[in-house]
Amino acid sequence: MNPYDFVRFGQPGPRESAIRHECFKGCSGQILCQLTAYTHLFTPKTQDVPRQRHARLALMRGAGGVPLLPGSSLKGVIRSVAEAISGSCLTLPQPRRGSVDYRGRPPVSYRIPRGFEHCRGADRLCPACREFGSLSGDSPFLGKISISDAQATSDVDVEWLTIEALMEPKPRHKVWYEDPQRRGVMRGRKFYYHRPLGPRTTTEKSKYNKTIEAVKPGTVFEFSVDYTNLTDDELALLVFALVLESEMCHKVGMGKPVGLGSVKIEIVRWEQVDRQARYEQLGGGMSVVDGDTLVAEVGRWQTRYHEQYAKWQDSLADLRRIWTWDPAMKEDVGYPSRDWFRRNRNVPIEEAP
Ligand SMILES: [Zn+2]
Repeated sequence: MNPYDFVRFGQPGPRESAIRHECFKGCSGQILCQLTAYTHLFTPKTQDVPRQRHARLALMRGAGGVPLLPGSSLKGVIRSVAEAISGSCLTLPQPRRGSVDYRGRPPVSYRIPRGFEHCRGADRLCPACREFGSLSGDSPFLGKISISDAQATSDVDVEWLTIEALMEPKPRHKVWYEDPQRRGVMRGRKFYYHRPLGPRTTTEKSKYNKTIEAVKPGTVFEFSVDYTNLTDDELALLVFALVLESEMCHKVGMGKPVGLGSVKIEIVRWEQVDRQARYEQLGGGMSVVDGDTLVAEVGRWQTRYHEQYAKWQDSLADLRRIWTWDPAMKEDVGYPSRDWFRRNRNVPIEEAP
């Protein structure tokens, strides 16, 4: 089974101007999340990876040497989910003009479907840019969500693994990347399947693969999400992108194609600020939601997501298919061989072994 698949774009989401920070309206607060590793997890300490020899990469660590997951990478993941399930613009970088692939050929790129071009100008932002920010165009908008680094709260066991090579994306393989109905247009947004069997390791060490220090499954982290001035619909999208559905897990960090990075995110505490009340009476206007009421509160916002973003149920269905965590899944997840690609140039992704 190929390690990734595509989430359909659906319809473009509405482009509107964002509520600015300075006004006292909208929802604000802090959501405390717990993140449990279901597979090994890895975020490298450095982005400088030697290319000429076998790389040995250590984990990113925070104060006291405890492994952490950087907030920037968590924000990237949550954003990509929010984008996919709300018809938001595509923030993926396109290949640079004049660049070439490893065989010296110009890269293949696909057109972004109409309505999904990257937002420009703060008065016409897609749902994800209105929440997470948009830095392109003349008037950058910083966004209304910040996510902290995730700190380990349990004992952390680590393990060095030599993982299989992470292949470069192969957009040249048109029959997979191109929309079957629209020539030259991108098919969807790429997400990686979970591999409950664990990481694909090897005993071979070459310049193509890496040996990495990974956090073992079962490790628990905590991080917080601060948000200000969100509309109810924006908050619903944020909450849904954070918790998804009970059977679904996120993929974070490096090594997604070789079975790393599956995590379960749960909300464990929620502070909600009523800005207006806080403004009128000092110290008032803050409520903490936890325990039994928390489950109902999260459920209420998940329902609101389904109501307000009903147009993107097909996209959500695709993501659900790719990101459902089934611990009993025995099917192997990995790239078909080079030989297979050579012999089956025109086989659609659904029929890949
Ligand atoms: Zn956008």
